[in-house]
Amino acid sequence: MMNVICKRAATIDQLQEMRGSKFVQSTLGNTFEKIKKELQDGVYVMFTGSPCQIAGLLHYLKKKPENLLCVDFVCRGVPSPGLWRNYVNFMEEKFNSKMVGARFKHKTYGYHTTTMKIDFDNGKTYYGSGRVDPYMKSFVSELASRPSCAYCAFKGLERPSDITIFDCYEYAKLTGKEDDDKGYSSIFVHSEKGKKVMEGIASEVECFSIDAEELVLYNGIMVRNSAKANKKRDEFYSLAAEMPINKALNQVAPITIKDYAIEKAKKFLYSTGTIKYIRKLKKKHTIAVTK
Ligand SMILES: Cc1cc2nc3c(=O)[nH]c(=O)nc-3n(C[C@H](O)[C@H](O)[C@H](O)COP(=O)(O)OP(=O)(O)OC[C@H]3O[C@@H](n4cnc5c(N)ncnc54)[C@H](O)[C@@H]3O)c2cc1C
Repeated sequence: MMNVICKRAATIDQLQEMRGSKFVQSTLGNTFEKIKKELQDGVYVMFTGSPCQIAGLLHYLKKKPENLLCVDFVCRGVPSPGLWRNYVNFMEEKFNSKMVGARFKHKTYGYHTTTMKIDFDNGKTYYGSGRVDPYMKSFVSELASRPSCAYCAFKGLERPSDITIFDCYEYAKLTGKEDDDKGYSSIFVHSEKGKKVMEGIASEVECFSIDAEELVLYNGIMVRNSAKANKKRDEFYSLAAEMPINKALNQVAPITIKDYAIEKAKKFLYSTGTIKYIRKLKKKHTIAVTK
């Protein structure tokens, strides 16, 4: 069974597994205990996790040792591992094969479209965006995150972490450069330690300094705000406890024929490059409306 867990990596190769967002509450197990031991042994430790996991670790350690670097991400919320298991079972039954890989934010249609990519043991591959994939749709519709995520106590610009990472969807607007749709990250640096790390990698990545408030305005509503839970969240979870995720979702937020048609059209528009122009038109329209 594919689970999302916190794991130790000591080499660049081992780090590869950690890359990419997994929209599931990750299981910590005895991670904090292990980190404490390594810190006491003088090992340099970087812990990456959700803001609440960072707060949990620092509370557990009672202080922030010099050899610990904390990186959190701006978090919309985390769905329960139980809902993820339901999805895995549903997909494995549908494809009659074990899941061997999952990417929650695959760039099938570019960085601007969140697409789930699943690899199966029988060699088949599935792609589904937040419009047609039942797990991603429940996540983006705010049906899936934990109830506590709607009242997240770990929001804000000031954080106990050294570095915060999050999406950067408005790269072109912020930098005046063309967006190649391959993806950009926004980064907040909170401490001297975080600054040193960024200075250490500055020559290897393209970095721009941007006013924090401007970054929040364009990309970071979730920096300060919790996502508002869908009114049907509890109903959805009760249903999902009894049936496969697609059937549960169908009763509260059905995926329609129109959704499938748009998904199909999107595939065509992306393969022909037309989607870039549509996005530009859409953005112009939005700016005109807000003014
Ligand atoms: C559950 C979740 C919700 C998010 N919500 C938002 C949002 O609303 N707005 C926004 O701008 N960005 C959000 N992000 C962050 C965003 O998806 C990217 O992680 C960020 O843009 C950095 O991208 P990256 O490719 O540089 O790093 P990534 O490769 O995405 O690295 C992310 C780091 O977080 C760790 N990680 C991934 N999933 C989990 C998990 N479930 N639990 C603990 N650690 C994990 C990875 O191991 C890795 O170290 C969210 C991420 C997650 C995991």
